Amino acid sequence: MPYTPELKKLIKRVEKTRPERVERKKKGEEFPALSLKEREDILKYHPDFKDEGRSEIKVGSSKGYKISNEIVDLLHAESRVSTELLDLSNPDYEADVLVIGGGGAGTSAALTARENGAKVILATKLRHGDANTMMAEGGIQAATKNTKDSPYYHYLDAMGGGHFTNDPDLVEELVNGAPLVIQWLEKLGAMFSKFDDGRLKTMHGGGTSRKRMHYAGDITGAEIMRTIRDEARSHTDDIKVLEFSPAVELIINKKGICSGAVLYNLETEEYIIVKAKATIMATGGSGRLHMQNFMTTNHYGATADGLIMAYRAGVSLKFLHTVQYHPTGAVFPEQSEGLLITEKFRGAGANIVNVEGKQFVYEREPRDVEASAIIRECIEAGKGIPLPNGKYGVWLDSPMIDIIKGEGTVRKEFPGKWILFKRYDIDITKDPMLVYPTLHYQNGGLEINSKCETSLPGLYAGGEVSGGVHGENRLMGNSLLDVTVFGRIAGEAAAGFAHNKYKDAKLTLEHVDKYHKELKREGVDTKGRVSPMLLPDYSNPDVRKRQLTTQYLGTMR
Ligand SMILES: Cc1cc2nc3c(=O)[nH]c(=O)nc-3n(C[C@H](O)[C@H](O)[C@H](O)COP(=O)(O)OP(=O)(O)OC[C@H]3O[C@@H](n4cnc5c(N)ncnc54)[C@H](O)[C@@H]3O)c2cc1C
Repeated sequence: MPYTPELKKLIKRVEKTRPERVERKKKGEEFPALSLKEREDILKYHPDFKDEGRSEIKVGSSKGYKISNEIVDLLHAESRVSTELLDLSNPDYEADVLVIGGGGAGTSAALTARENGAKVILATKLRHGDANTMMAEGGIQAATKNTKDSPYYHYLDAMGGGHFTNDPDLVEELVNGAPLVIQWLEKLGAMFSKFDDGRLKTMHGGGTSRKRMHYAGDITGAEIMRTIRDEARSHTDDIKVLEFSPAVELIINKKGICSGAVLYNLETEEYIIVKAKATIMATGGSGRLHMQNFMTTNHYGATADGLIMAYRAGVSLKFLHTVQYHPTGAVFPEQSEGLLITEKFRGAGANIVNVEGKQFVYEREPRDVEASAIIRECIEAGKGIPLPNGKYGVWLDSPMIDIIKGEGTVRKEFPGKWILFKRYDIDITKDPMLVYPTLHYQNGGLEINSKCETSLPGLYAGGEVSGGVHGENRLMGNSLLDVTVFGRIAGEAAAGFAHNKYKDAKLTLEHVDKYHKELKREGVDTKGRVSPMLLPDYSNPDVRKRQLTTQYLGTMR
């Protein structure tokens, strides 16, 4: 759907103020950034600060912790499996290392576990690569340039972005591992954007003091995922991939070691037992839970499964009280709602402006601050752009980019978005885009140390399912980095555990029974819910009433 006549009229206001804003940019004059105090003040508009959005966990190792209602509901739910009916004595598969999740973290982990001599099974919910990693656009941060940048500055930026709450040991691993990961990816064949002389191109991201974001056009995640998936799939002797086979419960042996998982085959509806000497949780995030009814950028399988399984098995949660809302999700046309408009647009010079065509915030504030400023502008200041569906948005002035950086820049640097909007008859080199914050990233997750160990022996975690490295707020480009750096660490550590520390014993699901008992003891009403969710449910209540299941159990029987 192209812009309506009303919206076209409002675009005139943006066009009127654009020459002056472009002039300022060209002179290097930026809209004043907020002070630390102003940032703190504005954060009260962030959804994380809405008390009604959170509730307390009543059971388990993080009992008393207040996190999003939607995750708490899944923790206050029963297992999908009936523990007395499952026979664990005759596993369907055995491996040194079981990797759960086929995104960036899981695939990096599988490759590194193999490099360290492990036979690996990678089990994933949908197809290998159906993951948030595949959808990442803007880039991956790494201090690869010797001039003006170093892991030291990267460390300071990451800590500042996380409001200095980040786990320093994890951040140290992240920034020191970054240049090596870029080298590793290039060696495997990833094609990052480069200058004609072969130097890697880099850009700024929100909250960064140096240009260190490497990218492949606006399809960086797809390029990374393509590369590592191809590599993993070429080692068929050592890495077996089970697609459409989500894990539904971890298995713990009588010696207290995580020893694999129960999988559920989505096609045949069979349960599959995988016995492994070490297990890596790499199931990504939870954006498809649509916290506080926000639209989301996330892929279909991002339903917090790994959090639920590992929590039942005793692993604590960290930093889950914060959720990242990306400041710029598409809000028009409606078909593209929630879709990420990468921060790289703002890095390339596009301002954020209100209904009057006025800039109201520096466009490269950290994400939580930027999102809060947009929400305030629309809700409190009443200066959002009214949309045909009754919602509001603000303008992202993309035409500034070609004016500042030369004609053709948008088409070259943002081919994915240019093509997408062209289909709706919107030319983003001529007209601005309408945006609003969209649910994007799970800042926190399972508690890990710098070896990706969890508190459960034999269970490792890496990527978006884990919490700590980004503290309360992740900076752009640090997640693709997190999943490759920590995916690799987890792979190596798990292979080491499988070879040197694993002790064989009878497989059990006793932790699941124990968890059920605790739910009962604490008087938690599970309301018939089961978890993990596996797939989100968009059917309406009338349809649900007419479904054949005798009891409605979420998306699956
Ligand atoms: C649109 C978008 C753009 C982004 N852009 C950037 C960017 O430019 N730079 C950046 O650094 N970060 C970016 N991010 C964030 C980053 O891409 C993700 O945080 C990161 O890729 C997560 O990787 P992961 O391997 O932890 O999870 P994922 O890549 O999501 O992979 C998780 C995998 O686990 C599978 N899974 C889930 N549950 C189960 C289960 N029960 N059993 C088995 N498998 C399961 C999923 O299906 C999926 O395959 C972006 C995210 C999105 C959504």
